[in-house]
Amino acid sequence: MKVAKFGGSSLADGAQFKKVKSIVESDKSIGVVVPSAPGKRHGKDHKVTDLLYMCHQLASHGLNFDEVYTIIQDRFTGICSELETGIPIGEILSDIKTMIRDGASRDYCASRGEYINGLILADYLGIPFIDAAELIRFDTMGQLDENKTRSLIAEKLGGIEKVVVPGFYGSNEDGSIRTFSRGGSDVTGAIIADGVDAELYENWTDVSGFLMADPRVVKDPKPIKLVTYKELRELSYMGAPVLHEEAIFPVRRLGIPINIRNTNRPEDEGTLIVNDQWAERNEGSITGIAGKKDFTVISVEKTLMTAEQGFFRKLVSVFETNDITIEHMPSSIDSISVIVSDIGLNGKLKKVKDEIQIYCNPDNIVSYPSMALIAVVGRGMINTKGISAKVFTALSDGGVNIRMISQGSSELNIIIGVENNDFEKAIEAIYKAFE
Ligand code: ADP
Ligand code: ASP
Ligand code: MG
Repeated sequence: MKVAKFGGSSLADGAQFKKVKSIVESDKSIGVVVPSAPGKRHGKDHKVTDLLYMCHQLASHGLNFDEVYTIIQDRFTGICSELETGIPIGEILSDIKTMIRDGASRDYCASRGEYINGLILADYLGIPFIDAAELIRFDTMGQLDENKTRSLIAEKLGGIEKVVVPGFYGSNEDGSIRTFSRGGSDVTGAIIADGVDAELYENWTDVSGFLMADPRVVKDPKPIKLVTYKELRELSYMGAPVLHEEAIFPVRRLGIPINIRNTNRPEDEGTLIVNDQWAERNEGSITGIAGKKDFTVISVEKTLMTAEQGFFRKLVSVFETNDITIEHMPSSIDSISVIVSDIGLNGKLKKVKDEIQIYCNPDNIVSYPSMALIAVVGRGMINTKGISAKVFTALSDGGVNIRMISQGSSELNIIIGVENNDFEKAIEAIYKAFE
């Protein structure tokens, strides 16, 4: 059995639903269909999930959210009338509006995009709908309860031939709704693929697979045919949003391959994501490039720091006590840089620097704001000479000033720090060198 997840752009309007129907009906082995909420139909459009968050925000301040909710209503009623579905969409929408007005939780509100889209899709495909709240369970710490979820999936999906399960949410033990982080329908699909021991997890989106670089930065980047779970983790963590960074874990356990496909071009093969041992080394080249902007580098200098017992522990603990996650820590003999995202830093730069001064007594602390990190990822790197030389030559020929370099010990990636302003230029230069 296959699990097929369809992203927001694949279900943005009636015409997209029709493409989904033809994909699902042309493949008998698709057993579970996981829809997202309607996404953008064009550049200036809104995602239904964003609108639902807005409604909740307004309602929680006692403000009128009619105007925003009307846009949501129009999206769904438009889809229903184009598909001529029989579900009581007016009633469903008005019940949800009442819930939002009466103080429903933020997660409940956000989840309704997937819930309604699931009801519409199930009706349109003529197959049953099973609510994700009945299958996906979170524990009291807000973490996925893997065992409970697996047994609920086995119990409720066992013996069912074809079913729609909405993405993005599940429920807490008390039955209240809890969502994953944004883009989380990818995670739902992966959890269900694991639960039913699927032969394949198809993830249908609006690009013909994982591309070597972000298509919004590089024009027509080449699609990647095959990528390993580990490489994909690096790429998605480092900013390629095609697949949620947590969607790998559930399928990796059983080695279920993921196939990224294009709803608008179902004839394209897309990208296959597999276990390490199934992939050749791909020597001599890289697999992909991804990156993120807005980091701060805090560089700490102290002569003989490596000889001082507990120095690194004290440094790291400053970040830990301030609840800041460290992204990278490249070091030399007498200096170390701590790289943190600006969101994670949350305005605490001065506090952190003061505390480092007190606890670590360094010779010097300097911070560099507005940095971008770029990851060049490839399983073939470990055995190939000259890849980093090629990357650095491309960057210098492209006039990009490299501010930081870090290579993971697995030699699966090289991370390069550049100024935010050089971000696009740097990605283009590296892509051209390996195209
Ligand atoms: P969905 O709504 O189907 O979940 P997403 O918007 O989450 O889709 O992800 C697909 C988008 O990711 C593409 O439209 C593309 O603009 C963007 N993207 C960024 N980097 C890449 C990449 N390396 N390969 C493919 N797409 C990428
Ligand atoms: N609709 C949710 C979001 O916009 C989840 C998803 O699309 O995967 O984040
Ligand atoms: Mg997505």
